[in-house]
Amino acid sequence: MENISLPVLSSENVLDYFPANPIKEPFADAWNYMTNNYTKFQIATWGSLIVHELVYFMACLPGITFQFLPFMQRFKIQANRPETFNGQWKCFKLLMFNHFCIQLPLIAGTYVFTEYFNIPYGWDEMPAWYNLALRVFGCAVIEDTWHYFMHAALHDRRIYKHIHKVHHHFQSPFGMTAEYAHPAETLILGMGFFWGILLLANHVVLLWAWVIVRLFETIDVHSGYYLPYLNVFHLFPFYAGAKFHDFHHYNFTGNYGSTFTWWDKLFGTDKQFKEYYAKIDGKNKKLH
Ligand SMILES: [Zn+2]
Ligand SMILES: [Zn+2]
Repeated sequence: MENISLPVLSSENVLDYFPANPIKEPFADAWNYMTNNYTKFQIATWGSLIVHELVYFMACLPGITFQFLPFMQRFKIQANRPETFNGQWKCFKLLMFNHFCIQLPLIAGTYVFTEYFNIPYGWDEMPAWYNLALRVFGCAVIEDTWHYFMHAALHDRRIYKHIHKVHHHFQSPFGMTAEYAHPAETLILGMGFFWGILLLANHVVLLWAWVIVRLFETIDVHSGYYLPYLNVFHLFPFYAGAKFHDFHHYNFTGNYGSTFTWWDKLFGTDKQFKEYYAKIDGKNKKLH
């Protein structure tokens, strides 16, 4: 029987309707320069460290700037609790310890991981952007699930004071507090980041794409500012966002999910959050 082909349905043809990617060529040049001049170990370790540090502080920059702009204060969620220099400095010191003493050894392990599973580094093996985007989404779903259950467990009264209390030092969070945590928490909740990679990595670029998305997301939810219209993450239904996680820091219980709201909806752990905002919205309606 003759093989019937359906050219209209093939992904290449569908993608013909999209405009060409203007950054593809400079990105390919930069990527090839990197793979031609550095070893896999250097790329996996120092490359990943640079991506993590650069993206972390870049994502924190808007929030750091907002505290000096009176106009932005209308978007601050806990307006009565402004950031202080002392708080930011305290946060920065622990971050540096966590980044270089806890996360760097873990990052070095990514080289062993890519070698063991034969994860490619080359430009020619790089997956298409839509393939990568789907995998990053998969990583986010897996991480959020792990985070929900582990985070709720860390709130258990018997262990809360030993580990998770550190992250809750800031009742009104700001961007930098995203990774302000006890080293044990960095390891426990950090594992959620790696499960997706273990299951879905098909190229080293996925590690970086996923770390970039995850950092922007966690810094957004800790930013303390709610900016729904300037935030691409709000295009996703079920995205938790700053209001959702800020309430967790304010209230200590409920809202355990990291990226999505579905687990909290399913188990009713967003009840207090919903009641709180229903009250505020009711008060606002009376005023108008
Ligand atoms: Zn918590
Ligand atoms: Zn938090």
